[in-house]
Amino acid sequence: MPMTTDEPVHAEGHCYCEGIRFAVDVPAGQGPLFNMYCHCNNCRRSHAAPLYHAVCIEEGWFSFLEGAELLEEFQKPNGPVRAFCRTCGTKILNRFPGWTPGGKVPLVFFPDTLNKELRADLPAVLRAEKNVNQESTVLEQEVLEKHFAWRLEHS
Ligand SMILES: [Zn+2]
Ligand SMILES: [Zn+2]
Repeated sequence: MPMTTDEPVHAEGHCYCEGIRFAVDVPAGQGPLFNMYCHCNNCRRSHAAPLYHAVCIEEGWFSFLEGAELLEEFQKPNGPVRAFCRTCGTKILNRFPGWTPGGKVPLVFFPDTLNKELRADLPAVLRAEKNVNQESTVLEQEVLEKHFAWRLEHS
């Protein structure tokens, strides 16, 4: 999985109710600050999901196409600002006030909100590169093995 992209990448996404539409543009020669599956309890709880795919980009690579006014924010002490659609609750992005690594303003978005149906539709530079907080996993190995066996048969 490439850390950077040779060609500029443009991807669009939307929330469940489709009130919020956004675009992500990764410039040529650049890539995410991090791109991972996080297994931690906070991310799993916030997303009500057993696994959480987060891609951290520069704030300027993300833009709203529609519905920016629907964005609602929530922040726990010491946590990121987690922003979601006021109408349908879909998580749209996380921000980290005061954290500017290398002078960059980071923003996390979630590739599962992009306009794609299949894994192959996801631009390579946006595919997960690593796991973090794996000690907190709730994924069932037996079920995942069935999935990967199925995928081998169907690829
Ligand atoms: Zn929505
Ligand atoms: Zn996490």
